[in-house]
Amino acid sequence: IRVAVPKETLEGECRVALDPVVAKRFAALGCEVRMEHDAGAGAHYVDDDYEDVSFVTDKAELLGNAEVILKVQPPDEDEINQIAEGSIVVGFMSPHRYPERVKLMRDRRITSFAMELIPRISRAQGMDALSSQAAVAGYKAAIMAADRSGRFFPMLTTAAGTIRPAKVLIIGAGVAGLQAIATAKRLGAVVEAYDVRSATREQVQSLGAKYIDTGVAAEGEGGYARELTEEEKRKQLEVLAKHITQSDAVITTAAIPGRPSPKIISKEMVDNMKVGSVIIDLAAEGGGNCEVTKPGEDYVYGCVRVYGPFNVPSMLPVHASDMYAKNLLNFLTPMIKEGELKLDWEDQVIKDSALTHDGEIRHEPTRALVE
Ligand code: NAD
Repeated sequence: IRVAVPKETLEGECRVALDPVVAKRFAALGCEVRMEHDAGAGAHYVDDDYEDVSFVTDKAELLGNAEVILKVQPPDEDEINQIAEGSIVVGFMSPHRYPERVKLMRDRRITSFAMELIPRISRAQGMDALSSQAAVAGYKAAIMAADRSGRFFPMLTTAAGTIRPAKVLIIGAGVAGLQAIATAKRLGAVVEAYDVRSATREQVQSLGAKYIDTGVAAEGEGGYARELTEEEKRKQLEVLAKHITQSDAVITTAAIPGRPSPKIISKEMVDNMKVGSVIIDLAAEGGGNCEVTKPGEDYVYGCVRVYGPFNVPSMLPVHASDMYAKNLLNFLTPMIKEGELKLDWEDQVIKDSALTHDGEIRHEPTRALVE
């Protein structure tokens, strides 16, 4: 099986779909791994770091002569046109953002698997790239908050006086939020957190943070949150407003699958925040959890530093790539039998994550959107 890894083309994308350790594992499975020259450079991997991999500069030739192509970002139109018909491409696909690419993959009879569509069942945990990348983002968010704060996070007792620890509030305690809590705790902050799913209470507390009870619970389907009613929103915000205005840093991660990010922090709340406080809005790609977030920008609103970063996992490219590559390996290993690709279309993981196959769009919501 010929596996190809091109250099990512999206501006600012530093990750690579294959790190040297996982490359060896693919080779051990009997794959012939080829990569584009310098594909790992953004993640600080040079070609020589990869054993059992050959490097090429001709990208069209690379993509045209592979059965499996590994990507981080969705393949762009040039790449799709270079991939041989009938080949498999695996990566994040963002179908709602790139419907034209989905159509092109359909028309070129490419089998595309979207990492974000892998079902979150226990058996597929090792393939869950949403989780691995969210963990990276949560960690980095806490670091970014500390970096932009004019205050220490930890308590310090020094000859020059005693410093009180910073108060950090995390809104949304999913995978990213929990990692942000753990990281802010390690930095010594006093951390409190809130999520609409009451199941997170225990998880928050087990990390040594305080859980804020707003009296609103909204467990939705499949362990995700559902959208709140107007009355629930009002109740939630009333309680949260007090905590937000008392915080030195607020990190927001709240998301609802298939919906724009819920607006939780209003302009008035930011107006009432402490001078020099910080908001890191990890939901910026979905519009943001804060009314004054300018997606992609890092700026000062009044006396509050507000940052809604894009593509946070790419800011920690080494480990984000390592974890992502492992997710890909775990996804593809069951399909590789005796050096041959065998796709079991009865397997829920394969069925759910297939975006296009055999000239069709297999993912219903995408088909409804595109066709
Ligand atoms: P996500 O990125 O979709 O959302 C982040 C968090 O925001 C969620 O915890 C959600 O409850 C919360 N949220 C939504 N609206 C909110 C609001 N108005 N106010 C406050 N918080 C709000 O979620 P995620 O981190 O990808 O995962 C969420 C769930 O999926 C978790 O229960 C997680 O344990 C579960 N999960 C399961 C598996 C598995 O079993 N394999 C893997 C990963 C995640």
